Amino acid sequence: MPNYGVPPVALARGEGSAVWDVDGRRYLDFIGGIAVSSLGHAHPALVEAVSRQVATLAHTSNLFLHEPEVLLAERLGGLLGAPARVFLANSGTEANEAALKLAIKYGKANGRSYFVAAEMGFHGRTLGALSLTGKPSIRDQFGPFPIDVRFVPYGDADALKNAVTGDCAAVFLEPTQGEAGVVPPPDGYLRAAREICSATGALLVADEIQSAIGRTGHWFAHQADGVLPDLLTLAKGLGGGMPIGACVGIGAAGTIFDKGDHGSTFGGNPVSCAAALAVLDTIEREDLLAHVRAVGQELRDGIAAIRHPLLKGVRGRGLWLAAVLTADRSARVQAAAQEAGFLVNALQPDAVRLAPPLVVTSTEVRSFVDALPGILEAAND
Ligand SMILES: *Cc1c(COP(=O)(O)O)cnc(C)c1O
Repeated sequence: MPNYGVPPVALARGEGSAVWDVDGRRYLDFIGGIAVSSLGHAHPALVEAVSRQVATLAHTSNLFLHEPEVLLAERLGGLLGAPARVFLANSGTEANEAALKLAIKYGKANGRSYFVAAEMGFHGRTLGALSLTGKPSIRDQFGPFPIDVRFVPYGDADALKNAVTGDCAAVFLEPTQGEAGVVPPPDGYLRAAREICSATGALLVADEIQSAIGRTGHWFAHQADGVLPDLLTLAKGLGGGMPIGACVGIGAAGTIFDKGDHGSTFGGNPVSCAAALAVLDTIEREDLLAHVRAVGQELRDGIAAIRHPLLKGVRGRGLWLAAVLTADRSARVQAAAQEAGFLVNALQPDAVRLAPPLVVTSTEVRSFVDALPGILEAAND
């Protein structure tokens, strides 16, 4: 269907941070399947875990238990350092659907009737998650939606405080807005959101579908702010390329669902869980959080040092950055980067997203930084 337009490249294979198109041309992958290919392409640990699991037990449905899902849930709770219960899904939007159903149930039990989310925020494309999504261009034509969502400007703690009353069931926020253009909030915003939710009894839902699993140099982006949400949603980088989503309920929020309240036939698929465990093990074993902070800083500093009339600056943390332009030329930058052998993403008209694999090397980062002035020049013609 025409919903994706015409993709610019047809990819055939990958290895590490490199991919090859069907004509054998090599690119350095600086978008990583939209912050998904955390270990890069064809990482031996991922290949081994997935191959072993598919040859052992590929599917059980939710009628039966299997070891990888238990290990993964325990592992996520351990990384959070909090008592957690996990619902496993297949994608980001499904993780948010689970969070929304939990919040609706919590609201009904406590006389709380509305939800708060951020303008320009992105939570997914299915109707529940879409109703929380604040981007008019992808939301408006499918509304109206049957739940009451009130939108506030992202990063404005006073606006949030005014919007959240004792009638609010939950607040959905990204710790940094991804699809809006990799937009971090001002310091202290997440802490303020936590305080507002705790004071009013609204659930704080951190949508970390794009920001977690090492992307910012932390397991979870909210950990940098020293706050703990009530619900946490994960997907993208968790499976390293295999489809998986997770809705994590922390403390009391983990026991809102009763038997029969929710489900998924494929959710918690053993192969995807094995992939996620391999991703988490590899991040730990190869000390990738420290690596992401170091090479992310190199990438950020490298871009910030470039003086070019089309480049305004760079924002974001870890290996999750936006190069911000002085004009609406991101599509041309993306095309010029491709021509120069780099895959990047024209995220907003004036912002180019960079989300390379967490294993990207310092040399690869340097080669991108060295090529960027020429790419900007070609896009500025
Ligand atoms: C990508 C994304 C989603 C949706 O995930 P899908 O797997 O595409 O359904 C939701 N929230 C955020 C913050 C995302 O970045």
